[in-house]
Amino acid sequence: MSKRTSQSIEDEIVALRREIREHDYRYYVLSAPIVADVEYDAMMRRLKDLEAERPDLITPDSPTQRVAGEPAEGFEEYRHKRPMMSLDNSYSIADLREWAQRCDKLSGGRAFDYVAELKIDGLSISMIYERGVLARGVTRGDGVRGELVTANVRTIRSAPLHIDESIDEAARYEIEVRGEVYLSRDVFERINRERIEQELPAFANPRNAAAGAMRQLDARITAERQLDVFCYQLLFDGAPGLATHDESLVWMMRAGFRVNPHHRRCATIDEVIEYCNEWERRRDELNYEIDGVVVKVNQTAVQEELGATAKSPRWAIAYKFPARQASTRLLDVIYQVGRTGAVTPVAVLDPVVLAGTTVARASLHNADEMLRLGVKKGDWVFIEKSGEIIPQVVTVITERRTGEETGFEFPSDCPECGTNLVRPEGEAVTRCPNPDCPAKVREGLLHFAQRRAMRIEGLGEALAVQLTAPRKQETGSLPALVRDAADLYHLAERRDELIALERMGEKSADNLLRQIEESKSAGLARLLYGLGIRHVGERTAAILADHYQSLDRLSGASVEDLAGIYEIGEVVAASVAGWFGEERNQNLIARLRRSGVEMNAVRTGEAVSRVFEGKQFVLTGTLPTMKRDEAKGFIEARGGRVTGTVSKKTDFVVAGDEAGSKLTRAQELGIAILDEAQLLAFGKEA
Ligand code: NAD
Repeated sequence: MSKRTSQSIEDEIVALRREIREHDYRYYVLSAPIVADVEYDAMMRRLKDLEAERPDLITPDSPTQRVAGEPAEGFEEYRHKRPMMSLDNSYSIADLREWAQRCDKLSGGRAFDYVAELKIDGLSISMIYERGVLARGVTRGDGVRGELVTANVRTIRSAPLHIDESIDEAARYEIEVRGEVYLSRDVFERINRERIEQELPAFANPRNAAAGAMRQLDARITAERQLDVFCYQLLFDGAPGLATHDESLVWMMRAGFRVNPHHRRCATIDEVIEYCNEWERRRDELNYEIDGVVVKVNQTAVQEELGATAKSPRWAIAYKFPARQASTRLLDVIYQVGRTGAVTPVAVLDPVVLAGTTVARASLHNADEMLRLGVKKGDWVFIEKSGEIIPQVVTVITERRTGEETGFEFPSDCPECGTNLVRPEGEAVTRCPNPDCPAKVREGLLHFAQRRAMRIEGLGEALAVQLTAPRKQETGSLPALVRDAADLYHLAERRDELIALERMGEKSADNLLRQIEESKSAGLARLLYGLGIRHVGERTAAILADHYQSLDRLSGASVEDLAGIYEIGEVVAASVAGWFGEERNQNLIARLRRSGVEMNAVRTGEAVSRVFEGKQFVLTGTLPTMKRDEAKGFIEARGGRVTGTVSKKTDFVVAGDEAGSKLTRAQELGIAILDEAQLLAFGKEA
């Protein structure tokens, strides 16, 4: 290695350490990071690689060697009796297998199994109980010294202030319970709404908001944030721990601590991997954020055998899901008109790789959201991708502004047809009121043709543009071939004109015409969905089709009739009745009918998806609107099972007023508790 290269490695190491320390400070102390975790992790990995190349340059204070975070000013410091470590991270299944092999090798031949838990994206806390009473709450800090935040921990309702007297160990030992403090998604959204009203910057994610709350010098502010905790580690001072991690979890539940219900004991690493894959898929079902799975060796004796490095135990590992947040530059904002005329601002981004795909656009939702975010051209922003949803801009990183950024103004006219845009009072959405706006016609047609509606698969974006645009001719321009869905069914008569379109040969034209012909028998549910009535999604369309069986009957239904249907609310009822009340829509239906489009329900089929498949429920107390049988039916229709007693196998307890011992038992076991509204929302999710 030449001298220059060696010097440049050294320089890079020094620069990386400086940069990482700066980010640690912003993340752990200020709770306001300016880069996304993926970017931070990349720096850390680079540093690790360089240090592996040059072990002589490793210093004990390198960020790779110690738990980051330092006590913030204003709190008393507390030295942890046993260090609060970080976790080693793995980003692939291969890493996990490698870890398991290492455990095997180092376990000294002892048999062991694993416990897999959700990795809650919050901050760790240590709660110390003296003679059963909560005496201290301490943050992790740098792992050795943390901050004493007892008053703040006392505000967490799920953290017991004392341990039940019937628990022997509580009287005998000082007990330390460690867990993850977090904010639920609901509360996080509320806090951000309030902050925007007060013109404070919004938090990029629940973790930052939770960390900020834990660092409040005024515990009343912490209390308002409604923090929660899931406990995952138990230590007895002056006595060995329980024989397995599994037993610790049970002990904590019995003693009144909140333990996440989704942990699973796994005999093999394959089972662990199955668990990881399952939760990567299901993470959006939870009302809190998880960023991975923590896998722990279950047997305490084996844990001790494996020991720890300076930074993390060898007997545990965090399997991280692909990151969902990244930071990038916002280059511009464009405005798209949807099928309802809603104008959506879309951020044009400097392309960035996120969760395996390159993201170049992100939604800004509406004018209010743009105002709330305060985005300017040239801003650095955090973007996030969750579930199936298109990426969104979550916050502007104001710290990275240079002063060169310029603001945006929401347009007053439709970018497609120039009509004056309207924004009804009390609504967040700005719309183009022109029923013939080419964007609305085009998007409406695409919606009508999509797979889940009339399934005319040959009708894609490019063709929709051509079909709905006026056709230029030497002698002037001809009207568009298609001006609404009903026109599709007359295309066969205009086959020649269709073939004349760009990129449309005879074969594709005939294919398209065949699909259009076949779509006539899609049936009422799919037709209703395809018509794009506001608030009528696929499920509502199926319910309406099931109930009325024919378009004629539905079309004549009053708001009261509609609202009387179980699962149809007032808003939907008004929207449906309103839609059928419009002459334009009646004409459309008449023309569709004349073309031979099926207007009756063809089969009842699967109206609801089986979101509760394999889940056990227990019902307790009186629900506000549903009768016991109704709730049972609702769950069973979605694949769930309702049983009478709460046990470890129970996944959810649905509790209403005057819920009794079943609720208490569920709380003891740390089982998720839903109210009626949550049950309904959950059941409607898919
Ligand atoms: P970590 O996320 O790597 O994992 C360790 C932590 O997981 C534990 O301390 C504990 O708090 C938590 N945890 C959650 N559920 C758990 C469970 N069931 N069992 C045990 N522990 C559980 O934590 P870390 O060491 O605090 O931080 C590193 C992370 O922070 C990295 O992902 C990094 O990207 C991020 N970070 C980001 C920035 C930034 O500027 N963006 C700066 C510093 C750190």
